[in-house]
Amino acid sequence: MRVWAIDIGLVDDINESARSVFPDEFLCMLSAEDGVIVDMVLLPGTVYGDSHSFLNQWMAPAGINTIGTAHSHPGYDNRPSDDDLSLFSNMGGIHIITCQPYDRGSWRAYLSNGEEADLEIIY
Ligand SMILES: [Zn+2]
Repeated sequence: MRVWAIDIGLVDDINESARSVFPDEFLCMLSAEDGVIVDMVLLPGTVYGDSHSFLNQWMAPAGINTIGTAHSHPGYDNRPSDDDLSLFSNMGGIHIITCQPYDRGSWRAYLSNGEEADLEIIY
């Protein structure tokens, strides 16, 4: 499935979740319908931390088709860290990073090779 767009309501949800766990990082997986990213898939037992400690717990619930990840950075930089890039390349898919101030302009989407992904926004 080619992912080409994201629902703006989901962007808001991700940012709201990021705000609620700040200064820790929020992390979830993403699912899509008809190529549009529409849902967060929360991982049971996820521990939000201020580093990328989640790398070992990368397990999607059975039966849910995930197409990538979203996570938050506690600072003002939404570029992927080296750890992020190695995670992305291992997983494939689309990966969203949001940063402060956690608004509709503070996130970016990346491909598994670390290049920026061009996603349309569905309002
Ligand atoms: Zn990161």
